[in-house]
Amino acid sequence: MSRKIDQCGRCGLRGRRRSMELLRYSGIYACRDCNNKSEGYATLLNYRRRERDVDIVADFPTVAKLRVNALHRIFQMSAVSADSRYVLVGNMGIFGRIARNHGIICREVDILEDRREVLSQAIDALPGENLTVILYPGKYILPALRRLAERSNQPVILLADGDAAVDWKNEIPGILTISVELPRQHRRDMGAPAIAGAPAHENGRHILENY
Ligand SMILES: [Zn+2]
Repeated sequence: MSRKIDQCGRCGLRGRRRSMELLRYSGIYACRDCNNKSEGYATLLNYRRRERDVDIVADFPTVAKLRVNALHRIFQMSAVSADSRYVLVGNMGIFGRIARNHGIICREVDILEDRREVLSQAIDALPGENLTVILYPGKYILPALRRLAERSNQPVILLADGDAAVDWKNEIPGILTISVELPRQHRRDMGAPAIAGAPAHENGRHILENY
């Protein structure tokens, strides 16, 4: 007897149902890729699977510290579509050249500039027509995020976890959060520097709380 075809209630993937346990547990049928993932992650996956445009603004030092794989397809697709943008902010050294070759907009930060201000400007420059993913967990960008959430009719996803995620949801109703479930670098061959002393892994779940 063949199994029923199901559509994942979170990311939209169609496939064979694996287990009714998942449905009973979460009240929604979730596929292997997004079961136990945040709503932000499942939403991003959903947009990618339907080939809808996604804008990304990422703080390079944060990405490097968390060893997020900035060249993973889930991000990279934003750099190759004419209707979306993928902006990296910060001084990225040799990785800047690699990123630019991939079509990523690299916004280097001058010594007299405040990186958080440059991030806010990058957020303000987004048209708000696409789903947006912001990979920076600091509170400085709150006003810019509020403005984005107001003008956008698509979800805004922010890097945050633990108590910080709850705070953000109180600050900006409807904001979704995403955490270290993002694709990580497995090898150190991309030229992205890992900052010395940075927490390497998710031994504690809330590694973003010190922002
Ligand atoms: Zn799914």
